[in-house]
Amino acid sequence: MLNIGLLGLGHVGQGVLRILLENADLIKERVGQALCVKSIGVRSPEKYQNLNLGGATLTTDIDSMLLDPELHIIVEVMGGEEPAYTYICKALKQGKYVVTANKEVVAKHKKTFFELAKTQQVDIYFEAAVAGGIPIIRSLKVGYAANKIQSLTGILNGTTNYILSKIEEEEKEFNEVLQTAQNLGLAEADPSMDITGLDAAYKLVILAAVAFKADIQLNDLDYEGIESIGLKDIQYAKELGYRIKLLALSKRYDDNRMSFGVYPTMIPEQHLLASVREELNAVYIVGNAVGDSLITGKGAGGSPTGSAIVSDIMDIAFDSTKKLSRRNLETNCQAVQILDSQELESQFYMRLIIADHPRVLEKLTGILGHYDVSIAKLIQKESHNSVAELVIVTYEVKEKNMQQAIHTLKKAPEVHRFLTYIRVKDLV
Ligand code: NAP
Repeated sequence: MLNIGLLGLGHVGQGVLRILLENADLIKERVGQALCVKSIGVRSPEKYQNLNLGGATLTTDIDSMLLDPELHIIVEVMGGEEPAYTYICKALKQGKYVVTANKEVVAKHKKTFFELAKTQQVDIYFEAAVAGGIPIIRSLKVGYAANKIQSLTGILNGTTNYILSKIEEEEKEFNEVLQTAQNLGLAEADPSMDITGLDAAYKLVILAAVAFKADIQLNDLDYEGIESIGLKDIQYAKELGYRIKLLALSKRYDDNRMSFGVYPTMIPEQHLLASVREELNAVYIVGNAVGDSLITGKGAGGSPTGSAIVSDIMDIAFDSTKKLSRRNLETNCQAVQILDSQELESQFYMRLIIADHPRVLEKLTGILGHYDVSIAKLIQKESHNSVAELVIVTYEVKEKNMQQAIHTLKKAPEVHRFLTYIRVKDLV
């Protein structure tokens, strides 16, 4: 029997416990031994008195729990950087395997964990930290192992995907849809980590290590959120044949340099990622052997996330006869040369409110031209009281040129309000 210690018994912890209890026979048959939760560390045990703990003991003394020689695996589902970081280090130093769903702590401290695990001849598993129930980490390590990954593009945040889908379907504005998502439990009371793109950025840092063996930090990538996207942007995107998704983008160039970023992005509506709706997550991979491939599924929720955690535990159980798992090869991950994001090229969509006078368009196209920005499409529909809404889609242009052009446009007296800009990518 393999004994497990759970740190945290919230949404995910309860999902893990439930799956281990409900599927106990199936799991035992598959891995050849029983997997049993022996103890559970929480802050307020009284909150969990009515749950079926399957014989596990609740404790607040996590330091002692981590010293228990009968625990083989520690499952960290508390969240946050501390004390999760300290507990994970302690568990690894005690020679215990660790499974975690915590993207923040893995993104920030992966190198320390991988090295500690290697020294102790154990391992740390984190399937649930990226895209919840989708087995993307294991797919990259095993299913796509024969490939040099050329690009990886993900919808890694279910909350923002839900909000963008609902703005389009229900023709409502961002704040109203966010409120509904909060009422449905699909967005946190404080949604900032999701809507600013930070959550997806943490996940991209982790995927970079697994897909590209690239040791990058949060500050190696730019991330932007969806706060400034309105119903009108989504409607214009539709008119132009696009859909807006919050994408985590990573790419390897021919000279082996790499780029990473998280941006709301317009993609062609016929692209596979465009059909990933509601709170679903997806990862689109281009490998040099497999070609294009898409994996999609639920990215959050106690049960899908619990599914990923229990599969990690089962993987450890499969491997527990060996001293060191050969699956988690990120100990080899290294610094990579990252392309300066200012040099990356994209098309851009912009929406702005301008003065509706003769020669205004000429002035604005002059500003764009000054920064080598060429216009591919221009839409001007509504005009009231000498004020008009203008939508511009550019041809491909370097990020730095576009940012300078936007900066100048924002200051131009003819521009009453610069509402939004969104990158446009064909993803080919
Ligand atoms: P949650 O519902 O807030 O539960 C957190 C649990 O951890 C609670 O039982 C809490 O115990 C315990 N805890 C927190 N701080 C603690 C501390 N200092 N000492 C002891 N126990 C502590 O969180 P969750 O939604 O299950 O998420 C857990 C982790 O999974 C996070 O890293 C999250 O990012 C990740 N994740 C969640 C989802 C999801 O759908 N929810 C999906 C993917 C990944 P008390 O109640 O006693 O304080």
